Amino acid sequence: MEVSHLPYAYFEGAIMPLADAKVSIATHALQYGTGVFAGIRGYLDQDGSTINIFRLHDHMTRFSQSAGLIKIALGMDVASLCDLAVELTKRNAPTSNVYFRPFAYKSGLDLGPTLSGISDSFSIYMLPLGNYYSDDSGLSVMVSSWGRTQDNVVPARGKISGSYINAAITKDEAVGYGFDDAILLNSRGKVSEGSACNLMMVRRGVLTTPPITADILEGITRRTVLQIARDAGMPVEEREIDRTELYLAEELFFCGTGVQVEAVTRVDHRLVGGTGTVGPITARIRENFFDIVQGKAPEYRDWLTPVAALSPVAAD
Ligand code: PMP
Repeated sequence: MEVSHLPYAYFEGAIMPLADAKVSIATHALQYGTGVFAGIRGYLDQDGSTINIFRLHDHMTRFSQSAGLIKIALGMDVASLCDLAVELTKRNAPTSNVYFRPFAYKSGLDLGPTLSGISDSFSIYMLPLGNYYSDDSGLSVMVSSWGRTQDNVVPARGKISGSYINAAITKDEAVGYGFDDAILLNSRGKVSEGSACNLMMVRRGVLTTPPITADILEGITRRTVLQIARDAGMPVEEREIDRTELYLAEELFFCGTGVQVEAVTRVDHRLVGGTGTVGPITARIRENFFDIVQGKAPEYRDWLTPVAALSPVAAD
């Protein structure tokens, strides 16, 4: 998916044109994957001029923690990271839904895969972003022949650049076989997550998802979905899931910043729930989710950081 970016980025301590934000090919992170990133969405409000950034503080908290996992010091607290995203939004003045990509990385030109004593850098850029999938009739997925990276191989709960080879190779295999995406099992053979999203299953009426010890990324959308379900009085369970449960499930769906909430209606060529249609719990959670991110649910407004973004702010 080739994308166009918004014109301004934060790079090496200043907001500047994205076109000038460049690194050397000898950069440590480029060679060894020693970077961490975040993916955050901002939604255009019903007023047509405000961008509501979704769970900005939670994303920046995880970003900061991911950086700590590979010994990157951001030199900025979470509140300042959030302020920076807001400032960049004003500078870029987007007129549609957006995606933020904070990226912290070992910027030194050092040779040798280690973590200590290598200089760091930190950047943010933005792009307009609509839905990942063009229709919402449900995804066809396979259980991957690749396993999910184990937490004691590469930290699974950090968004570490190098570990996204795992997502890339998995998704590429699935698409090559004609599927939309894949579900990964972990090293214990239990269901972990999608290639770049978490998985939810409805089984015997209970909304079920693998626990945070199943080598998953601790997704912020996952947490959001669990909260929406609990608030709606639905039974919810975090427990290990076996592969064959995917075949017996009433409903399956993916959730994540990129995919948002997307039904999975086929697994390994089997129709989910026997019908292969979007189930009622998925449809309800999806509707609630989009109401919340679009600012239509007052009780969840705390999750939104509104930025008045319509008028461009002149560059210095
Ligand atoms: N798992 C992986 C591997 C991911 O890359 C993502 C996307 N960030 C998720 C799960 C979902 O996390 P979130 O809801 O925080 O975007």
